[in-house]
Amino acid sequence: MAAAGWAPPRLDDFILTERLGSGTYSTVFKAYRKKDNREVVAIKCINKKSLNKVSIENLLTEIKILKAIRHPHIVELKDFQWDNEHIYLIMEFCAGGDLSRFIRTRRLLPEKVTQIFLQQLACALQFLHERNISHLDLKPQNILLSSFDKSHLKLADFGFAQYMSPWDEKSVLRGSPLYMAPEMICSQQYNAQVDLWSVGVILYEALFGRPPFASKTFLELEEKIRSSQAIELPGRPKLSRDCQDLLQRLLERDPLQRITFEEFFTHPFVDLEHMPSPENLERATSLVVEAVEKDQQGDHSAALSLYCKALEYFVPSVQYESDIRRKEALRSKVNQYISRAEELKAVVTSNNRAILQQGNSARHLLKEMCRDSPRLLAALQLASTAIAKEESGDSDSDTLELYQQSLGELLVLLAVEPAGRRRELLHAEIQTLMRRAEYLKEQIKMKDLKWKEESMEHEALAESVGRSCTLQ
Ligand code: ADP
Ligand code: MG
Repeated sequence: MAAAGWAPPRLDDFILTERLGSGTYSTVFKAYRKKDNREVVAIKCINKKSLNKVSIENLLTEIKILKAIRHPHIVELKDFQWDNEHIYLIMEFCAGGDLSRFIRTRRLLPEKVTQIFLQQLACALQFLHERNISHLDLKPQNILLSSFDKSHLKLADFGFAQYMSPWDEKSVLRGSPLYMAPEMICSQQYNAQVDLWSVGVILYEALFGRPPFASKTFLELEEKIRSSQAIELPGRPKLSRDCQDLLQRLLERDPLQRITFEEFFTHPFVDLEHMPSPENLERATSLVVEAVEKDQQGDHSAALSLYCKALEYFVPSVQYESDIRRKEALRSKVNQYISRAEELKAVVTSNNRAILQQGNSARHLLKEMCRDSPRLLAALQLASTAIAKEESGDSDSDTLELYQQSLGELLVLLAVEPAGRRRELLHAEIQTLMRRAEYLKEQIKMKDLKWKEESMEHEALAESVGRSCTLQ
């Protein structure tokens, strides 16, 4: 074990300076390369004396994994060296410290900030998952920030990664039980799902300022780990529904019930598909170009749908942008697109109304023809309920659910419907309902985007008020 206050070891090509941190087997120093413009690096020094067979294996795994991968959210291993006493891992330097310190100095993080961090972590985990690599020791101490002023995360410390048991030969638990999935401790049988539990603990700690199993004594901790009770979320701070849902699904004790990796990557709170990135900004821009074209051609509903798709990429980009001027420019563009989309929505709605009126009489006739088919009649009734709800202003996800239910049923019935007038009418009705459901889905999406944009504006306002208050 590396003692605190350890004098920096000597290395030919580097000048070692301050100690950045230390873990179970190592001490990490900041260092400068003597050549190459005095490049700043972090050097993890592992005292060979502290290594037994298991930890040498741990280390070799870490080196092998890290050297082979390059990812914007994973700490880069540049090189490694050794001498009689130490093994040295030369890594890119992360100036922002680790996430544990970041949370501690702020007590807890706002949901928006947490979401940006989580997306980055998920991005790194997706990259690892595609390569069949598990981390197995995810915790805030192993998540670094690349600099102080930009929130850019880097995953570090693959010491325990893959093929390794968290129990050593003497059945001693390594790693931190606060972040370990219960099955790792209780049954010693586990798989990659344990990383998702740890993500849940990290998310919980960021939002509430302490991990869910925080305890005063080891006995209390053990009780909490072994309990079968579901993890309860504190009532405050108040979180969005998506965020609560994700927490609950990550912190599911039974690994078989826990959210899967695929579900995690596409969960609305993570939504990697729309994660801010230069590529997604480009995608959004070209969607707007297409939208403008359709708009000019007079195809309002296609234009509306393209604007909505573009906004799904644009809105998170505004959130993510740290440069104030660029953020303002983006925000004003987003507002402009939202306004145009709203105008289009009004046009499309009034056009639709005329078409839908025609549909109403056809529906009436169809119902008349279904008097002897109770199942068909029930499905059509469900659709009518959805339409009535929508027309009375309930443009929400419950109404959408009703449309989807009735469509599911009607499609099954269409498949067995014999040819004839009734089949034709049923076919037309299904098409109308699909168009309505699609349109409603878009409206819901747009409402959600507008809500996100507005809440960002409130935040920006609060921020600037906060800034001027601290200036006084
Ligand atoms: P261990 O296996 O001993 O836990 P880590 O790789 O997790 O080693 O590093 C221990 C601590 O050192 C981290 O929690 C972090 O505070 C600091 N640290 C590690 N790597 C870097 C780096 N590349 N840049 C800056 N600080 C680092
Ligand atoms: Mg560590």
